[in-house]
Amino acid sequence: MPMQRTLLRGGTVITMDPQHGTLPSADVLIEDGLIAQVAPHIEADAEIVDVSGHLVMPGMIDTHRHTWQTLLRSLCADWTLIEYIFAVRLGVSPAYTPQDVYLGNRLGALDAINSGVTTLLDFFHCNNSPEHADAAVTGLSDAGVRAVFGYGFYESSPGAPTWFADHSDRLADLSRVADAWFPSRDSLLTLGVSLTEMETIPFETARAEILAAREHDALMVTHTGSVWGMPSGVNALAEAGLLGPDQVHVHCNALNDDEWRLLAEHGAKVSISPETELNMGMGRPVFRAAEQHGIKPTLSCDIASFNSGDLFTQMRVGLGFHRWAETEDMNLRGASPERVTSSAETALEWTTTNAADAVGLADRIGRIKAGMAADIVVVGGPGTSQHPRLHPAGTIVFQTGPQDVRHVLIAGRFVKRDGTLVGVDLPKLLSAADAGAAGLLERVAKSGRELPGAPPQGWQALAAHMIPPA
Ligand SMILES: [Zn+2]
Repeated sequence: MPMQRTLLRGGTVITMDPQHGTLPSADVLIEDGLIAQVAPHIEADAEIVDVSGHLVMPGMIDTHRHTWQTLLRSLCADWTLIEYIFAVRLGVSPAYTPQDVYLGNRLGALDAINSGVTTLLDFFHCNNSPEHADAAVTGLSDAGVRAVFGYGFYESSPGAPTWFADHSDRLADLSRVADAWFPSRDSLLTLGVSLTEMETIPFETARAEILAAREHDALMVTHTGSVWGMPSGVNALAEAGLLGPDQVHVHCNALNDDEWRLLAEHGAKVSISPETELNMGMGRPVFRAAEQHGIKPTLSCDIASFNSGDLFTQMRVGLGFHRWAETEDMNLRGASPERVTSSAETALEWTTTNAADAVGLADRIGRIKAGMAADIVVVGGPGTSQHPRLHPAGTIVFQTGPQDVRHVLIAGRFVKRDGTLVGVDLPKLLSAADAGAAGLLERVAKSGRELPGAPPQGWQALAAHMIPPA
């Protein structure tokens, strides 16, 4: 087969590579899915795409997203974490069909791509049956996103009838999924595991989940120290020799210093969801604690059932919080800082290089450099927020929205081009999602499940007042 070559001509390239920094005007040559060369001017027999006047950056990486919940967009706008846990995890999740999961994951992954997110660590905890897991993987695959699929062992609703006879059935299904969908580590989709929260299961069950993940060489993602007043399990994991660099610990708001030291000693990774944490009563995003312990922060969108699915917003909210937190004490003493404590480029590191390291793909993604996968985002175009542009990283972090993402390439293939998602009948998918969400809420309403944290007006009224599908 002839080699596929694309040349991105003349953009301002934010490489995120310490050696090269930001190149004011450079060409990026892509060959067969990989970045072949980055230089001021390249001559090549290639399809040439003029990106002059645009910013070129590595595709962003979300280190924790429950993509399946995209079908519940903004349902939880005014809910706390506890209300969310009861209503979504225990109330809505059991009503999800495999088709709902498929729609959520496909739409969620496309929503990510549309905003320049090329890699998801998909935290899938709606595993009501093997068909649900298959539908989740298919949704990601059909969207064309790069992802670590985090298979979850969760009971959707403790006590409710379930497809799986017991927990060991769920562990066995991980092997089935690994064989069926993840034959190679080189494909866009790789296998991960979403661990059940340590606080909610017996320790031996937690151990079994971790050992099953390691047996399949699967990256683990888990909610750690996200509910105040509950033990985080970090000490127990450390004592049992189960903490490790193959784990992304999410939120961590309630961890104490000793627990942070243990995470750091074992090389564990951390994911912060600024929008979710600040809005749902979860406490301070842990930028300072992570940095003090030498752990590189990464960002995640967490739940589209509450907040945005774009990392621009997470960077903006996260950096604003981080700067505020670093100067608050000084302000309260009556003084003002002379300079900011962290830069816009720092926020870009959270979503590129740091995140690539966290998901175990630092040799493949997160930087624009020869030999890396061509996961690339081109930002610019005619939007009012993009002109004039005086500060490349500042423009990305503080000015850019999904509408300003012109092109997105994953492994060298255009998945968004000239502002439009490629190869998707979007109107059809959006109507299917609207209809799917309406049907889902109807089923929840009819199930008559009385759960603390259900919407105050009740599920029936909520379903009735949903904006009707077009
Ligand atoms: Zn989460």
